[in-house]
Amino acid sequence: MPELPEVETVRRSLERTVSGKTISSVKVFHPKMIRGMEVGPFIDTLKQGRIERVDRRGKFLLFVFERFYLVSHLRMEGKYFPYPQAIEKDKHTHVIFRFTDGSELHYNDVRKFGTMELRDKETAMSVAPLAQLEREPFDPTFTAEVLAENLIRKKRSPIKTALLDQSIFLGLGNIYVDETLYAARVHPLTKAGALTLDEIARIHVAGVDVLRKAVESGGSTIRSYVSPTGKGEFQLQLAVYGQTGVPCPRCGTAIEKIKVGGRGTHFCPTCQQVAL
Ligand SMILES: [Zn+2]
Repeated sequence: MPELPEVETVRRSLERTVSGKTISSVKVFHPKMIRGMEVGPFIDTLKQGRIERVDRRGKFLLFVFERFYLVSHLRMEGKYFPYPQAIEKDKHTHVIFRFTDGSELHYNDVRKFGTMELRDKETAMSVAPLAQLEREPFDPTFTAEVLAENLIRKKRSPIKTALLDQSIFLGLGNIYVDETLYAARVHPLTKAGALTLDEIARIHVAGVDVLRKAVESGGSTIRSYVSPTGKGEFQLQLAVYGQTGVPCPRCGTAIEKIKVGGRGTHFCPTCQQVAL
């Protein structure tokens, strides 16, 4: 599943290819992915709309129009493919945006889990799906104190599970949570309420740092995710995710994999001791 760094890479690519363009027509081949309204009004609202820019909130892409946002979540396998002219659709193409300059943007999704919805600019941040997201991790007001405050709500959860909640630490998903806890030397099963302030501060620094480095590398290329500008390269820097049995880069102990809250979780049993 694309996480914040991969979505940011997609955003930058879309910003270069579609911002400033005006939509002449929209075709929807899989109506279920359009949320909150029927396909007819969805298409009518977008027609003649001009994409001012492409923003991001957490793992949501926001196509910014004059009065509304098109909010797009890629879920497991969603991808955007821009084409300089009209091109025949692929069997996994579910939405086609045609622009007045003749170019097209195809939304492709093998698993069909992705969603699109329109939200008024004025209320978008106070209603689902954008409400209740924590501020962006690179926002200087997102501090260790804010994280500590958020974790109080999840004090009985393992820290791995708590950090996947986008109202606690925006942008961390399964891959980058494992990397963050490894860097911070915190065992993924540690209860959020059992963490010291020092450990929370280490998790905060590590999480922001892991996300920043991953954004700089164009995200990670894992299974189906492919950066639109070529391959993301952060997977080359992964210390624990997908490294089961590989020696820990710090101490040489074999990396282990367990399930936490149903999610595959990688850690070093020597560097990350569980606090009871
Ligand atoms: Zn280790």
